[in-house]
Amino acid sequence: MVRSTRAAAPGRVNLIGEHTDYNGGFVLPTPIPQKTRVELARGEGRLVRVRSDQAPAPAEYALGRERPRGDWLDYVQGLTWALGEAGFELEGFNLRVTSDVPLGAGLSSSAALEIAVLRAIRAAFALDLDDVRLARLGQRAENDFVGARCGIMDQMAASLADAGAALFLDTRSLEFRRIALPPAADLIVIHSGVSHAIAGGDYNTRRAECEAAASALGVPQLRDVSPADLGRLAQLPEPFGSRARHVVTENQRVLEAVLALEANDVARLGQLFVESHASMRDDFDVSVPQVDLLVDVACADERVFGARLTGGGFGGAVVVLAAAGEGRGAGERITRAYAERSGERPTLLVPAG
Ligand code: ADP
Ligand code: MG
Repeated sequence: MVRSTRAAAPGRVNLIGEHTDYNGGFVLPTPIPQKTRVELARGEGRLVRVRSDQAPAPAEYALGRERPRGDWLDYVQGLTWALGEAGFELEGFNLRVTSDVPLGAGLSSSAALEIAVLRAIRAAFALDLDDVRLARLGQRAENDFVGARCGIMDQMAASLADAGAALFLDTRSLEFRRIALPPAADLIVIHSGVSHAIAGGDYNTRRAECEAAASALGVPQLRDVSPADLGRLAQLPEPFGSRARHVVTENQRVLEAVLALEANDVARLGQLFVESHASMRDDFDVSVPQVDLLVDVACADERVFGARLTGGGFGGAVVVLAAAGEGRGAGERITRAYAERSGERPTLLVPAG
């Protein structure tokens, strides 16, 4: 009998479509080379022991007795809790986690952890779960156990995205299509050095503002507001009008980005990145001065088509679109210039070193 199972799941960078997933809208993530890897060994009884290279100390709990502690272990406890709620029978196990996805950088270390652990559990206990179901279980754990009210993008990306392609996902229907990345461009991902935590309140506040805007407009979700209705948004009190305008225009930008990708029109795609960043900064208010500086430094590079904050915001990483073959050179130039001007310690993550 096989007693040990290995599994992995990647981090992701969202090309465009930010804060649209919990509004029923469109997103366009692609995996990054950095991954979370787990090794699961079945144990005895109901005990779960977890050790992560990225956490200060090992921890343990009993299946069926999951209780939020307010730290990293909640992501694992939340998964076995969600599996239990869904009627799956597990037995105790030991889990070893290691990851090179930076934590709290908007590159979805949380979903990489969730999907890697779920894949290992699925294999070890021969559970009948497809990849979309894994994504839903990860989201359930994060929403209802950890308390971060994220949408489904990150878990779908970690579970279903393929390297070299973007996952164009309708987060309402969960219909998706993989679109090859444009041959005429290189992607660059740089962590600004400023970390966020989405379990913190700001992300949940934005989500509540979007729900309030949708209800004031009399629609189930902001997905249901068409770009032709932008005039109505101006009548909403602030900040609700601005928040809604970001979501409605961002959904439209995802659809335009898909057309640009398919046409290999990287100049247009870069322009959409720039517009998306301005909308996140001015209408959605999820950027910070360091990230704005990093985007400005990137856009000033002559080999760059555009740049934007990626992920939930309040710090984290930027995604930059550069001319094909120029990604490494431009990435190094931008990282160096930003470090000098900001005093932060940025990391060039893509192209990977
Ligand atoms: P992001 O998903 O953008 O990296 P989140 O705030 O959603 O940021 O999730 C980060 C949190 O997920 C960390 O603070 C930690 O609690 C947990 N986490 C992610 N990866 C690991 C890991 N390898 N080991 C331990 N905890 C992890
Ligand atoms: Mg996350």
